[in-house]
Amino acid sequence: MIKLEGITKSFGALQVLKGIDLEINKGEVVSIVGPSGAGKTTLLQIMGTLDEPDAGTVYINEANVSKMKEKGLSAFRNRHIGFVFQFHQLLPEFTALENIMIPALIAGVSSKEANTRAMEILNFMGLAERASHKPNELSGGEKQRVAVARALINNPSVILADEPSGSLDTHNKEELHQLFFDLRDRLGQTFVIVTHDEELAKITDRTVHMIDGMVNRS
Ligand code: ATP
Repeated sequence: MIKLEGITKSFGALQVLKGIDLEINKGEVVSIVGPSGAGKTTLLQIMGTLDEPDAGTVYINEANVSKMKEKGLSAFRNRHIGFVFQFHQLLPEFTALENIMIPALIAGVSSKEANTRAMEILNFMGLAERASHKPNELSGGEKQRVAVARALINNPSVILADEPSGSLDTHNKEELHQLFFDLRDRLGQTFVIVTHDEELAKITDRTVHMIDGMVNRS
């Protein structure tokens, strides 16, 4: 499902990833933990094809994405991978519904179909009555759930999340984490979540520990 082989990455003289091999199965919810600067975000960006490794190969759904050229790669990314970040990054001038529709419109889906899909997801999340609210009219937890809805609109098989609950209070954190598991159980998505949240790491199927650019297998 996701396979990384021999991934290395340096920024100038700093080697941030020192040869990462990692396999994540379809439908797994995996957390990546480790000290600040260990390379977690860099690894997630490479896994999501937002950044290129210096060496090594990334496979998503058996496709060798490291061989893809930018045009094909961005279409592949838009179709197969959804991203959730610490700060929701919703566009303030658009409603929740419109924000969720955007990746589908970019993928060439008609606005009628995008609207239908976005409403289905909002319904599933119990957020239908918030559809016409703009981000500044939503609570922090709602904004983050709308960001998850946006990540889901093209029905990606993989969701990559970087500190998704980092800006939330305990109640909203728990709701968001529960949502990840509900989605996996209902739709079979694979989740890879970079987190400092020990409670989340405890409940994921597997925790990958990163230290100093390496996966710690001890
Ligand atoms: P945190 O838990 O603090 O988010 P992290 O484990 O996610 O840390 P990364 O964000 O992957 O760590 O960063 C690893 C190292 O690479 C850090 O020392 C960081 O300063 C450096 N780094 C990351 N991105 C860049 C960049 N674009 N240019 C230069 N250095 C970078």
